[in-house]
Amino acid sequence: MGKGKGYLFILVIALSALLLAGCNSGDAAEEYTVATDNNFVPFEFLNEETGEMEGFDIDLIKAVAEEAGFKVNIESMKFDGVVSGMQSGRFDIGIAGMTITEERKETIDFSDPYYDAGLMIAVNKNNNEIKSEEDLAGKKVGTRSGTTSEAYIKENHPDAELVTFPGIVEAYMDLESGRLDAVMYDVPNVKYYVANDSANLKTVGDILQGEQYGIAFPKDSDLVEDVNKALETLKENGTYDDIYEKWFGERKYGTESSE
Ligand code: GLN
Repeated sequence: MGKGKGYLFILVIALSALLLAGCNSGDAAEEYTVATDNNFVPFEFLNEETGEMEGFDIDLIKAVAEEAGFKVNIESMKFDGVVSGMQSGRFDIGIAGMTITEERKETIDFSDPYYDAGLMIAVNKNNNEIKSEEDLAGKKVGTRSGTTSEAYIKENHPDAELVTFPGIVEAYMDLESGRLDAVMYDVPNVKYYVANDSANLKTVGDILQGEQYGIAFPKDSDLVEDVNKALETLKENGTYDDIYEKWFGERKYGTESSE
C-alpha cells in the first residue's frame, strides 16, 4: 500500500468509527406504542379541534416517557382492544384507566397504582326511584363491555337487566333518552360526565368498589421497572400533582408545583 492510500485507509476507518459512535451514542430514544381508550373522560378523549388525544392518562404517560427517556406513539381504540392488545403483546404499553384486578394480572403486567377509583351509579335527574344499588333489581342497567363494572353487575346484581355497550358514552345517551334506568361506571368518569357533558343526569349512592388504575404491559415486559421508577419520581417532584390538579382541580400528594 502506498503512503497516500495508507492515509486514505486510516481516514476511512476513523470516519466509520465516528459514524458508528454517533449511532450508538444513545440520543436516539426508543419509541414505544401506547394503546389507549378512545373515549374515557377525563383520562383520554379526542380533542376534535387538534385531532390529538388529551387527558390525565395522556399527560401522565408523556411525563413518564420523558422521565424514563423514551418516546411514545399513542394509538386509541375501544377499551377491550387495549386489554386484548396487552395480552397479545401487540402494543408495548397500555394506559386507559385500566383497573388492576387479580384476573387481569394473570395475563397482563401492571405498574404501581397511579389513580384511586371505584364504581358509581348515574340516573336521570328526575328519577326518585333508584337511590342506591339496592334499587337495581328489575332495572335496565347499562355499562361498557369488558370492564370491571360489567363484572360487578353480573356478580352482585343478577336480577338487574344488564345492557352492555362498546363505548360508555352510548350508555349515557341511552340513559338520557330513557332507554336505560341507570348506568354504572368508574367514579371519576361518571362524575366528570355528569358535571361537564350532561345537564340531565345525577349520581346516586356511595362508591361501590374500591379500584386502582395501573399502566399495563404485556406479561414480563422490561418496561415495568423503568416506568415505576419514573412514576415515583413524578409523584415526588410535583409533576404528578400538576397533572392531577389540571384534570381534577386539586393536588393529590400536596407537593409544590414542579414549574
Ligand atoms: N376501569 C375500568 C376497567 O378497567 C374501565 C376503564 C375504561 O373504560 N377505560 O374495567
